[in-house]
Amino acid sequence: MVSHRMHRSALGGLLLGASLAAGSAGADCGPEVLGTSRSLMLPREAAAYGTAQHQALPLQPGEVVITFDDGPRPESTPQVLQALKAQCVRATFFMNGAPLVRHLDLAQRVSAEGHSVGMHGFHHSHFATLPEAEQLADLKAMQRAHQQAFGVPAAAYRFPFLEETATLRTALKAQGITVLSVDAGVDDWLPAQTPQMLADRLVARLAESRGGILLLHDAQDQTAAALPLLLKTLKHRGYRIVHLAWEAP
Ligand SMILES: [Zn+2]
Repeated sequence: MVSHRMHRSALGGLLLGASLAAGSAGADCGPEVLGTSRSLMLPREAAAYGTAQHQALPLQPGEVVITFDDGPRPESTPQVLQALKAQCVRATFFMNGAPLVRHLDLAQRVSAEGHSVGMHGFHHSHFATLPEAEQLADLKAMQRAHQQAFGVPAAAYRFPFLEETATLRTALKAQGITVLSVDAGVDDWLPAQTPQMLADRLVARLAESRGGILLLHDAQDQTAAALPLLLKTLKHRGYRIVHLAWEAP
């Protein structure tokens, strides 16, 4: 799918890197869709981004990086992928290790469809309540699962519940792994959220943050159901999608 899209690019003939290929995705889908306006290729380094806890990513006002946590989940992730594909949008998925191992095909499909993948803890634990050894064992298991699924070491990590610990921050820093927090969320983990409720919250939160890293959950049925409206809303409001990617190891 990815290479097919690259070859059909209007810039055909050039050997396109992943970053340019993402930029061409919108052109392929036509001007009616949201599309992916550009890719932001980050080095593999011990940086930390997301203004909820850290510095901002180098984005322009109105640029949005879409991220999904807690998958892959067969009941909802395919619907999320379908909605993204329909709008030519590329996102970043922070997967938990346990479902990644259980649903390996689905995890690999996420990557094969052009999205980037980071780590979100093997288990979705409150690491601050765990002994150091257990925190480090979870990271090691997560890294092993990612390496086995995708053939490369993971470049980025998002803490479950955004609860950072000094133990894991130190371990990630020592390995040059980027921590990604958030700039805006829509609280899509709250029960009984309709698409319109989530879309209204999206508009309000992005107005505050002026774009940035958006946190969503592909493991939530209500998020999968709302995603077509959320993407349409982003398009309608003039937001531009930036796809985060990391340099090859
Ligand atoms: Zn999570």
